[in-house]
Amino acid sequence: MANVVLSQVDKFYGRTQALRDVSLEIKNGEFAVFVGPSGCGKSTLLRAIAGLEDIHQGTVAIDDIDVTAKAPSERNVSMVFQSYALYPHMSVFDNMAFGMKVNGVKAPERKERVHTAARILRLEEYLQRKPSQLSGGQRQRVAIGRAIVKNPKVFLFDEPLSNLDAKLRVQMRIELQALHDQLGSTMIYVTHDQVEAMTMADRIVVLNEGVIEQTGTPMELYHKPATEFVADFLGSPSMNIIEVETRENSVYLGRDKLISYSNEATPAKFGIRPEHIRIGEAHKGRVDVQVTVRESLGGEAYLYTKHTGSDATFVIKTDGMDNYQAGDLISLEFSESHMHFFNGKGTAIWAD
Ligand code: ADP
Repeated sequence: MANVVLSQVDKFYGRTQALRDVSLEIKNGEFAVFVGPSGCGKSTLLRAIAGLEDIHQGTVAIDDIDVTAKAPSERNVSMVFQSYALYPHMSVFDNMAFGMKVNGVKAPERKERVHTAARILRLEEYLQRKPSQLSGGQRQRVAIGRAIVKNPKVFLFDEPLSNLDAKLRVQMRIELQALHDQLGSTMIYVTHDQVEAMTMADRIVVLNEGVIEQTGTPMELYHKPATEFVADFLGSPSMNIIEVETRENSVYLGRDKLISYSNEATPAKFGIRPEHIRIGEAHKGRVDVQVTVRESLGGEAYLYTKHTGSDATFVIKTDGMDNYQAGDLISLEFSESHMHFFNGKGTAIWAD
């Protein structure tokens, strides 16, 4: 168990800058998730911690020791990849024990560690099977077992669930959280899936073009995004983010007044999550929209709507028990505590 501290890390691939001035502390025992769209630098950051990528500037410290110049094998971390990369001709036991054998761990110790990991991962009855005789979820558990037997200071996961089907992903997500609770180890997990980030993380690190946009607990980031990028990235359906005008101490969408406003910073955009919109009867003076599409998911429904006074569109989430249909005119109400405002650069007004 250890903390991980990155200071002012820069990384280039040729002329592409993959990481820009990344500084971050992951605390002892924390489950940190790096999330962001494809190409934002999250794998590079994880690999820089593992020592699989050299960095051009900055330092990486694990357990308060500067490991910037150290080889991956000297960093005491274990990495689990998206492709399980199990040896097909070896049994589950041998797959898990192989790394220890190479490192000179004695046979009785190897056996004990494999059995402990197998017990944690519920793999005990599969130890003599070959990988081809296992399900996808079991193979991924073997890959995690291989990481556990090394007793690393830090676990690094690079999109480990991407190859699993949707149902198994949910199951493995829960298993990984249980594993974290049980081991209490520092874990860093990379994903492009905001649902994985929201559900698993103690702390989320949102990356965008090699820069940390924001770090915080899932609820902090969801309810108080510092930028339009974070607001848009977390949550499904995404936050409605609409261009607005500010005049005479009020924010307007077309002719409709959204809110009185007397802050120095001028909002360029207004944001509201789909579940934070209330629906009333249509009447002038509020934000009137027309429903264009209704999507019913059973337990909830999404109404896709268009503002009658501008080109703005809003997605609204309901409990699914309403009867609104395409063509209906409805009026929207936004609770002030859930309204977000962004300046012209996409920074939340409170974070200016
Ligand atoms: P992510 O994991 O968020 O999808 P990566 O960390 O893999 O992103 O990549 C970050 C950026 O660095 C991207 O622009 C990607 O194209 C580039 N990149 C990654 N690996 C290499 C490489 N080996 N050679 C050149 N460019 C790379």
